[in-house]
Amino acid sequence: MLIMLKSQRKKANANFLAGYQDLFRCPLCSSKMKLVNLKSLICTNNHCYDLAKQGYVNMLSHALKTKYNRQMFASRRIICRNGLFGPMINKIRGLITAGAPPRGEQLKILDAGCGEGSHLAMILGKVTHNSETGLLGVGLDISKEAIIMASKEYKDIIWCVGDLAGAPFAGDYFDFILNILAPANYAEFKRMIAPHGRVIKVIPGRDYLKELRNILYGQTAKQHYSNEDTLELFKSNFALLEVERVRYNVTLDQTWLEPLIQMTPLTWGTTQERLLKARKEELSDVTIDLTILAGKKHH
Ligand SMILES: [Zn+2]
Repeated sequence: MLIMLKSQRKKANANFLAGYQDLFRCPLCSSKMKLVNLKSLICTNNHCYDLAKQGYVNMLSHALKTKYNRQMFASRRIICRNGLFGPMINKIRGLITAGAPPRGEQLKILDAGCGEGSHLAMILGKVTHNSETGLLGVGLDISKEAIIMASKEYKDIIWCVGDLAGAPFAGDYFDFILNILAPANYAEFKRMIAPHGRVIKVIPGRDYLKELRNILYGQTAKQHYSNEDTLELFKSNFALLEVERVRYNVTLDQTWLEPLIQMTPLTWGTTQERLLKARKEELSDVTIDLTILAGKKHH
């Protein structure tokens, strides 16, 4: 039978996780964790986190509400899968390939703020081509809905619900930490990155989705923004290795318009009237403008 039963899936996932117990750190007391009975991660002080049936681990001690909902993640997935972030994915793949430690050791990659997981899955899919050493992908997000979506779709990646402000992972662990269009926590990045490791952060540029922003905000202040402060903050935390602007225009299939409107927080600050206008207007193309930063720890 091709379809794996849920119980089998859970067991397969638990066996997979069993090989990576040293990855985890208790988010409450920072002590080491063990996988017990292939079903719970338990720390030395008995704080306990169960594996969900979908195979992810929920390491939040209490549920947190976020403004990001399932519809936003579903929309982002449609946009990712249609390749709108393709050039960004390729650039990150290049940075990982160039910065990877010598062969022989497994490459460990964390996506901090992974959402529904498509970016990480696509990046891992591309890096595998050029790697003989094997890869470990770990996705962390504070949204349980996002992690459920990720774990249902993408196997062989460790998906974890958790708070980046007290991330449930061990120190000096990752070769790469990715932080794509998501909030950062630099203190935690510095703690978790290996001494030779690199942090790759993607921030929106001035023209990111400008056609859509023009409709949603007109000539108001929100329409313009600068990423200078974000860049400066990154530079004060890491030695900057690379800054690259990736800017391109995408011809829009009209079926992508609604997910494009839904995938970003851009809609939060606009009016119903303008939203209606955005839906009526036939946007023929949209600009993707991103800045990709790569840095390493100051030594
Ligand atoms: Zn604990």
